[in-house]
Amino acid sequence: MVSTEYRIIYCNECKQVLGRYNRKYFTDERIGEVIQSHHRPHVREGHEIELLLERRD
Ligand SMILES: [Zn+2]
Repeated sequence: MVSTEYRIIYCNECKQVLGRYNRKYFTDERIGEVIQSHHRPHVREGHEIELLLERRD
């Protein structure tokens, strides 16, 4: 069985998960674009965005 990997976009300042994306469809480059377009306020405020990895079987 193949496990699915997800990229978790987490904001260290807000202490909240901003998004969860299947790595099959979202490369890290794409994730970078998503952060810039959808989570821009956090970036603009200088929040520390962390990329976590979640694996589900
Ligand atoms: Zn934030």
